[in-house]
Amino acid sequence: MESLLVSACLLGAACKYNGGHNALPPDALEALRRRYRLIPVCPELAGGLPVPREPSERRGARVVSRDGRDVTAQFQRGAEIAARLAERFGAKKALLKANSPSCGSGQVYDGSFSGILTQGDGISAAYLKCKNVEIFTVYFELFQI
Ligand code: SF4
Repeated sequence: MESLLVSACLLGAACKYNGGHNALPPDALEALRRRYRLIPVCPELAGGLPVPREPSERRGARVVSRDGRDVTAQFQRGAEIAARLAERFGAKKALLKANSPSCGSGQVYDGSFSGILTQGDGISAAYLKCKNVEIFTVYFELFQI
């Protein structure tokens, strides 16, 4: 069965900055489980950040938390762990949470903490792309290929 790296919060893990999750609908999870071996990862936790934590956003090459801390190193560590997991399990695709400073692909919040999106990738999504992992943020696209 093909491996699929997945943002853990999409699978229902309570790893969001506020202790919540972004669980997909049960039928979507069931369909994914039937088709893929799911490999969960939360890069922010893997990189050493706690739950709950201050939300963070990208500012250029850096990542800063709302209270002004530079958390770039933790985000980079999480990206490396995500890429290592993808390699270990042979995952060539990843389903990642949209807009996140770690997992977002194509657009992320702009660093102003005002809900404005801008073009760009989260740190883990960008790193996984460099490792030739194909990134999806919409689950049903995984069934159209
Ligand atoms: Fe979800 Fe990714 Fe944020 Fe973890 S880092 S809570 S997996 S979006």
